[in-house]
Amino acid sequence: MPEIHAARRARAQEQIAACGAPAALITVPANVRYLTGLASSNAAVLLPADGEGVLATDSRYTGAAARDCPDIELLTARFVAPALVSRAAADGVRRLAFEAQQMTVEQHRELTGQDGAPELVPLGQVVERLRMVKDEAEIEMLAVACQLTSEAFGQILDQIRPGITERAAAIALERAMIDAGAEAVAFGTIVASGPNGAIPHHVPGSREIQRGDLVTIDCGARHAGYHADMTRTVAVGEPAAWQREIYDLVATAQRAGIAAAVPGADVQDVDAAARDLIEAAGYGAHFQHGLGHGVGLEVHEAPVIGYGRTGTLGSRVPITVEPGVYLPGRGGVRIEDTLVVRDGAGPAGSRQMLTTAPRELLVL
Ligand code: ZN
Ligand code: ZN
Repeated sequence: MPEIHAARRARAQEQIAACGAPAALITVPANVRYLTGLASSNAAVLLPADGEGVLATDSRYTGAAARDCPDIELLTARFVAPALVSRAAADGVRRLAFEAQQMTVEQHRELTGQDGAPELVPLGQVVERLRMVKDEAEIEMLAVACQLTSEAFGQILDQIRPGITERAAAIALERAMIDAGAEAVAFGTIVASGPNGAIPHHVPGSREIQRGDLVTIDCGARHAGYHADMTRTVAVGEPAAWQREIYDLVATAQRAGIAAAVPGADVQDVDAAARDLIEAAGYGAHFQHGLGHGVGLEVHEAPVIGYGRTGTLGSRVPITVEPGVYLPGRGGVRIEDTLVVRDGAGPAGSRQMLTTAPRELLVL
């Protein structure tokens, strides 16, 4: 899809021109991939506000770059950023925008110490902002990642029973995602059982799942570079009244958050739609993280949907909605889906739910 990448570079170039530098050095790996199609752990792009860009990568990736990025000049170098800074200097660039959100102080010092180096000025998160609104090809890849996730989750449910450790359950789920066709897992799977469910990012350990536990499972498959993100909480054995109460509350809050996630909505209002219900029920102190986040080439990307955040949702923006209630020493519930906010005829636009595992409380 070289034409898609050329179109993305053209959009980035308009932004670079607006920031007042004649060129930008792109070093965030997901941004490099977005603008060129190259997945590499060592690549960077020199993108002038006007004219053609240059992609630098090392010899391990030149074959892939020649195949996947035929429409951009390729520079083979081991130290990609210094090579592109030299190239910019040779092209007469005196001011070069760079991605200050990612570059280390040490790299910055090296680059500015080069002979004839241009002055480095922050570009800001220009490419990250472009990445928020996905094209249909990206949404399709994300949909596949979410489908693989939902499928794999359904396949391992019968293994979530008393006696299996959190770790074994997490490995079974990761294995099922890979077997279903995922290229990798999007992140380390979380399985948090019983009291561990009160820890939002618990690392699955040797605790054996017991009858009477709520078990929170947060997982995602990666497909073609795109990350799915889904959480379900299940009950092992008949749930106690308090467990059902917090499950129903979180499920209601999630529906309210999803309903509020429409094009043009302020991210703070989307967060509040879910948070206000949890607060009104007296559990506000037990929901301390944001409601959701963008997903794409990174599992956590713009926009951040949280209290005190600014910005509005656009159309074709994939996000997660993931409220939770965490009761220290007792357990917790989180329900998370990946969905696409879209323009459409109805009051909810034509919202597209990408993760599809059942949302009602499963009693195993
Ligand atoms: Zn998650
Ligand atoms: Zn998430």
